[in-house]
Amino acid sequence: MKLEGRVALVTGGSRGIGRAVVEALAREGARVAFVYKGSQDAANALVAEQTGQGREVVAFQGDVAQSAEADRIVAEVIAKWGRIDILVNNAGIIRDGLLAMMEPADWQAVIETNLGSVYNFCHAAVRQMMSQRSGRIINISSVAAEYGNQGQANYAASKGGIQGFTRCLATEIGRRNITVNAVAPGFIETDMTQAVRNAAESKIKDSVPLRRLGKPEDIAGAVLFLAGDEASYITGHVLTVDGGLTLGGF
Ligand code: NAP
Repeated sequence: MKLEGRVALVTGGSRGIGRAVVEALAREGARVAFVYKGSQDAANALVAEQTGQGREVVAFQGDVAQSAEADRIVAEVIAKWGRIDILVNNAGIIRDGLLAMMEPADWQAVIETNLGSVYNFCHAAVRQMMSQRSGRIINISSVAAEYGNQGQANYAASKGGIQGFTRCLATEIGRRNITVNAVAPGFIETDMTQAVRNAAESKIKDSVPLRRLGKPEDIAGAVLFLAGDEASYITGHVLTVDGGLTLGGF
């Protein structure tokens, strides 16, 4: 198994992409802690399913937008397993709306949850990784960072911010053998995209060269690659995983 002995922390692991990331990392032998906010039943079910297969997976309830929560959870993971090798900042939300109608609360919730959480967890975990002189940080961005979508000014700003953050942090901590990369998914079949899929699934598929939406496992595969030894010389990179959606050939 590729990640035997490693300790991973995944935010937003109860559902969707984060859940698939937890499963992929645990399947490769990592001990995995994940954070969820409201989906307690789903979190408990994932822990039960994984431990039933002999894997070490634990869940922490908390709000990733709160820096004190990040500090608490990172400290608990280190107290339990003594290290953090892989940090996957995946938790995210949407609060779509045209800017003229976008309330300050919708702006703040998206920025603080999607981008603030990346600062919160990196800040909390990076000293541990520096003292280990190794680590992998993988931030989940979006193709929305680079391509304008009506109604997503808050979301695109948060995801673009993640890409800039990723490049800066990569330059700061590379000398400690810590890589920092991002994954930019396209349209993935999760709860987050349910409404837009209900409205326009076949139109979306037609605009994807691979003629299908992505599955959470497609993103988990990219995360697994960036977390593994094969990616040890890749840092500051944004890996687009979108079936060709953004190639512009449609
Ligand atoms: P999802 O199915 O809606 O799941 C979101 C996850 O984030 C849940 O586990 C949720 O936990 C957690 N979460 C949200 N706010 C949180 C908070 N304040 N504190 C702790 N946990 C929180 O979303 P997804 O589609 O898997 O998206 C995962 C990531 O991929 C997000 O960053 C998203 O922006 C990005 N992404 C998704 C797509 C796509 O097409 N789906 C495309 C590009 C990028 P609870 O349910 O427990 O609250």
